[in-house]
Amino acid sequence: MQTPVFSNTLGRRPSQLETVVPGEVRMYTCGPTVYDTSHIGNMRTFLFEDVLRRGLQFLGWQVEQVMNLTDVDDKTIQGAASAGVSLSEFTRPFIEAFFQDLDRLHIQRAEHYPRATEHIEEMLELIGRLVEKGFAYESDGSVFFRIAQDEDYGKLSGFDLSQVRQGERVASDDYDKEDVRDFVLWKGAKEGEPAWDSPWGPGRPGWHLECSAMGMKYLGESFDIHCGGVDNIFPHHENEIAQSESATGKPFVRTWIHAEHLIVDGEKMSKSLGNFYTLQDLIDQGADLRALRYQMLSVHYRKKLNFTFEGLADAGAALKRLDEMRFRLLYANESEAGADSILVPACDRLLKEFGDALANDLNTSEALAALFGFVREVNQGIDGERLVAGDRQRVLESLDRVDEVLGVLDADAWREAESDGLSDAEIDQLLVDRREAREARDFVRADEIRDQLTSQGIVLEDTPTGTRWKRQ
Ligand code: AMP
Ligand code: ZN
Repeated sequence: MQTPVFSNTLGRRPSQLETVVPGEVRMYTCGPTVYDTSHIGNMRTFLFEDVLRRGLQFLGWQVEQVMNLTDVDDKTIQGAASAGVSLSEFTRPFIEAFFQDLDRLHIQRAEHYPRATEHIEEMLELIGRLVEKGFAYESDGSVFFRIAQDEDYGKLSGFDLSQVRQGERVASDDYDKEDVRDFVLWKGAKEGEPAWDSPWGPGRPGWHLECSAMGMKYLGESFDIHCGGVDNIFPHHENEIAQSESATGKPFVRTWIHAEHLIVDGEKMSKSLGNFYTLQDLIDQGADLRALRYQMLSVHYRKKLNFTFEGLADAGAALKRLDEMRFRLLYANESEAGADSILVPACDRLLKEFGDALANDLNTSEALAALFGFVREVNQGIDGERLVAGDRQRVLESLDRVDEVLGVLDADAWREAESDGLSDAEIDQLLVDRREAREARDFVRADEIRDQLTSQGIVLEDTPTGTRWKRQ
């Protein structure tokens, strides 16, 4: 087992991973708010967390990961209200789309995906502890965290409390707080909003509280790693620390790791700039998601990732070099007799350098550089006809080993996963739906179905006897 060093946001310095239970990492990763489809920025953060998980496993650690689903907040409530459906009906398709997006990028599943709406009891219990200890107070049906009570508030983000006027009683638009800096733990329900009963009246949990309660439920009151994008540092993670540590009196999390944002063509992604992409948008433009995964891996998580279509094409070209090496290897001759293999030390070096790069603050670009050094050596070995018996197997095994982290080298697995999206029966059913839509002159729906099938590599052919399909 190798012990990695991470840039710990807490303390702003590199720190060696220390865990509560030796050999086991318990980590919490903030998940999506399911009022919309995730964009590729969100996916960058989720992919970074996937590589962190896989990297830790590569280094010999056992990992238990939690990712929450925020299925109640202002946006989900508004969305459900304007669609005229219940909260769970509104969030269901976004939750399904989220899992589909994880699969599309070959992101491994976490051990737990708790939903906020299913953990209200744990959240109320946590608020109760905070109220009892004087860290929280009720005001007009809502409950707030009393920041003035928390001496080390700001230790994660460097937020300086003294910069904000203290002790002033503030009536914000919606709620009465004792102090402008206080944040909400429980929001009293307004007319017509979904609400749960509580000792402070009907309402719903605040976002920060949700992650504290679910993190501690699944991973214990103190756990090892907490991640998110850099925008989560303040106030979300700062507030999680405040709530959890004030309630338990114990350190909440030792290592905080935050991924920098994805930007597009050097600018922030936004709908108004027209540079806002979901994975589906990229699929619709014919992008190769295997190349996207590679592109994301090629930039260290603490650097901004500038997404461009040229960058995506470069990533595709890099993958092609890797694919070609594997292909050449399959057909290369291995000599029978016993010269020393040059690839035994090359394989050892690859695994050592690859592990060292991961242990060095999850340096994926360094890890890929080690892989390309190895590829050069293998190609030289093939060119010089210097492969000996066992080399092919040895190289393939080493590639499989590093691909447990990278998840991009097995082109066949990606092809299969893409065409596996729909079973034959599902495709047949979609064709029936499409025929019915056309009969009802709903051509928009009919075209949508065709697009959905095309995006999964299914080609339709309309014939006089009906529509036939085949996989590309
Ligand atoms: P949200 O659904 O908005 O709560 O975001 C889910 C995750 O995506 C959080 O961990 C955010 O920090 C992260 N995130 C949001 N925008 C970006 C972006 N442009 N680049 C990378 N990560 C992001
Ligand atoms: Zn969170």
